[in-house]
Amino acid sequence: MNTTIAAISTAVSASGIGIIRISGPEAMDVISRIYRSKGGKKKIKEVPTHTIHYGYIYDGEEAVDEVLVMVMRAPKTFTGEDTVEIDCHGGVYAMNRVLETVLKNGAKIAGPGEFTKRAFLNGRLDLSQAEAVMDVIQAKNEYALRSSMSQLKGSVQKTIKEIRNDLIYEIAFIESALDDPEHISLDGYPQKLLGIVEKEQRSIDGLLKTSSDGKIIREGIETVIVGKPNAGKSSLLNLLVGENKAIVTDIEGTTRDILEEYITLHGITLKIVDTAGIRETQDVVEKIGVSRAREAAKDADLILYVVDSSTLLDENDEEIIEMLKGRKAIVLYNKTDLASAVSMEALEERTSHPVIPISAKEETGITQLAETIKSMFFSGKISFNDEVYITNARHKEALEEAAQSLSMVRRSIEDGMPEDFFSIDLMAAYASLGKITGEEVGEDLVNEIFSKFCMGK
Ligand code: GDP
Repeated sequence: MNTTIAAISTAVSASGIGIIRISGPEAMDVISRIYRSKGGKKKIKEVPTHTIHYGYIYDGEEAVDEVLVMVMRAPKTFTGEDTVEIDCHGGVYAMNRVLETVLKNGAKIAGPGEFTKRAFLNGRLDLSQAEAVMDVIQAKNEYALRSSMSQLKGSVQKTIKEIRNDLIYEIAFIESALDDPEHISLDGYPQKLLGIVEKEQRSIDGLLKTSSDGKIIREGIETVIVGKPNAGKSSLLNLLVGENKAIVTDIEGTTRDILEEYITLHGITLKIVDTAGIRETQDVVEKIGVSRAREAAKDADLILYVVDSSTLLDENDEEIIEMLKGRKAIVLYNKTDLASAVSMEALEERTSHPVIPISAKEETGITQLAETIKSMFFSGKISFNDEVYITNARHKEALEEAAQSLSMVRRSIEDGMPEDFFSIDLMAAYASLGKITGEEVGEDLVNEIFSKFCMGK
């Protein structure tokens, strides 16, 4: 990390302000070559740390932009290195021109995630916190943001560190006892260790249990809308999407068939799948069949079953009701603005799922739908005050590995194996957990993780 790197850290599109970040041992040299204060007297290299200075960026004798320069000296910076941030005008050309001047004067262009990678390598963040930086940027809803922020503050790191400390203590104890059997006795120790291993297993299991909520928080609840033709599926979809115009993203697959839309409803994200299947129904006579719904619903976390309450249930409904057995589903009693042909109570009884009255046409019932989904998936309460959520698949995998190793320790104890067997598996669990915080990861993995970051972060 002897090089000094620079990048545009804000979005590269016309905006009010753009930020060029410079980090590394020569950051102060680079800025002193290109910065001039208004009167031309200020020496930027000599200003106190964590101060802001008005002036101009000069490329040779040409003033490139009017700027504010933030000077932050190591070690109290994001990367742990000398850092300079230049607030310039947010035009794409202006930002690129300032960056170009910075690069001409001694900095190298930063790779994706390189600032955060330096923060990790310089010990400013552990790996779980560095990954949380990315998650904060990508958070799609309030819960995702809160859980990433909690991870950024170190909640995952702290929990993992505690377990690792306990494990290393036991490993050290076993090793010392084996080295010095005259003074340290292992009599009765296996039984004590069993208790400790069980305690750590409970902690890890607890963390693993949060990972399904974690996935939902991060990626959204995979939701499928089903119902017989004309029940109101596409009207509902349009209503849900319409409320979210600003943040909806279409991800089109290779075929027109797969289309997902993300919808944020009262802080939770629904990832609605097979929306093409629903929308297609606009132009074909043969409307979406139950078989297709069945296919789409197979892997879904949640099924929204739209019922046309103004008509009697038919064989399509019968088939869908059959399909909903044992699944997480909500029945949407649609078209409440019309006279009803089927009662809510009857539906509740038939399906054993919550039934919510809505009118896709009059746009009613959505709040109750959101509340029901929340209580279904999060028991109505997600708190990030004292709970740690595992939202990262890599962390989950490492926890599973650690749990596996601890089971081996248990088995060795129960089978009366010699003590050095315990320490091998304890060590393996210790190492697996270290992957989460980054103490036990190779350079390749570090590079891979940071390569997924955006530029300038
Ligand atoms: P799909 O085949 O399940 O996608 O159903 P559509 O969303 O295309 O709706 C079928 C018809 O029902 C359309 O004419 C809609 O305008 C109408 N519709 C949908 N929801 C409501 C509702 O809540 N009230 C009334 N009165 N009509 C509705």
